Amino acid sequence: MTMRKISIFGATGSIGQNTIDLIRRDQRAYDVVALTGGANIARLAADAIALKADIAVTAYEERLPDLRAALEGSGVEAAAGEAALIEAATRPADWIMSAIVGAAGLAPGLKALEQGTTLALANKESLVCAGGLLMQTALRHGARLLPVDSEHSAVFQGLVGEEISAVERIIITASGGAFRDWPLEDLQKATLAEASSHPNWDMGQRITIDSASMFNKALEVIETKEFFGVAPEQIEVLVHPESMVHALVGFRDGALMAHLGAPDMRHAIGYALHWPERKDLPVARLDLAEIGQLNFTAPDTARYPALQQAYDVMQRGGLMGAVFNAAKEKALDLFIAGQIGFTEMAEVTAAVLERMEAQSGLIDSAMTLDNVTEIDHLARQEAERAAAERR
Ligand code: NDP
Ligand code: MG
Repeated sequence: MTMRKISIFGATGSIGQNTIDLIRRDQRAYDVVALTGGANIARLAADAIALKADIAVTAYEERLPDLRAALEGSGVEAAAGEAALIEAATRPADWIMSAIVGAAGLAPGLKALEQGTTLALANKESLVCAGGLLMQTALRHGARLLPVDSEHSAVFQGLVGEEISAVERIIITASGGAFRDWPLEDLQKATLAEASSHPNWDMGQRITIDSASMFNKALEVIETKEFFGVAPEQIEVLVHPESMVHALVGFRDGALMAHLGAPDMRHAIGYALHWPERKDLPVARLDLAEIGQLNFTAPDTARYPALQQAYDVMQRGGLMGAVFNAAKEKALDLFIAGQIGFTEMAEVTAAVLERMEAQSGLIDSAMTLDNVTEIDHLARQEAERAAAERR
């Protein structure tokens, strides 16, 4: 059996670690090229050594001495900084996991696509910022994008053998997050610790908070449009507290295909890893008789203002996705830093969208990495200002 060359960007995170868990179960099948991380040098080095990676890269230049020390004598190359991440993405691999969190995943993701590889995309932010650019780059270089987000993996699986023209609607589900059952007036007082625990999924801190605010689902609505090329009005969100139905595809003949599975990211990661085959995966099997009942409700728009913002962003088009994502990332930074309250995150993003929407010179400029990076920077500044004005 020939070994598959693989790289994992964001290897030290929640998705990265779940990917490594699957790789380690069948390590002889994989030749690991690059692993990348950020601040967690110990984890990065330990995994790079255990998986015999060619190179380990930390995003932070100042951490290079630590990484070098941790890799001493192992034969694994150490590198650091943004340029090193990009270089790692040019190293030939058959399958690359894009699991850096945030817009920082865009540039390495684009570079990976340029080598015509298969990119398993967990980093939804890059599709929200620059979906058209990613898709075009993939097309131009004969690369393939496979979804890793559970909802999008579910839709992708529901579309096997189907024409996208036969699709009437796509429904992605949302658990409702940590505050689903909280009285609306209590939300503004929600603390960081309260927002950082998810009822069903075990994920990185940022996406967990984004699940409580529904910013995660807002990004996923845009991700659905970019990935599958459907119109915004074809995309629906359904609150489903059990997180067992991940998505549903509605066809023109009225059929609705639902994808069910335990809330375990190793399903979607494993599907992308083995695609187009299906292989055994270490995920729990659902016992529907035991579960008995599944619940669905329409999302409460007052509770989750971020959702409407996603539709407004798609309506405006251009580079508004990059504005939205950057404003959201900054608002989340400020919430984590204790500078704004939970409900103020959506107020900040609303203010940024309103202020930047009219700047058509910017918003309607070509979708290049440079323009997206510039817009991202401006939107973060605008978010900082909008937050400061509230204090
Ligand atoms: P984590 O926060 O757990 O991990 C993020 C990874 O990115 C870590 O390896 C981290 O390094 C690294 N990283 C952080 N900042 C930077 C940076 N500026 N440059 C380069 N690398 C960086 O996130 P998750 O694994 O939860 O999420 C990763 C992506 O997958 C996100 O886009 C998320 O939306 C998406 N996703 C996640 C799901 C989940 O279940 N967790 C489900 C669906 C999608 P370090 O930790 O060493 O600092
Ligand atoms: Mg998801």
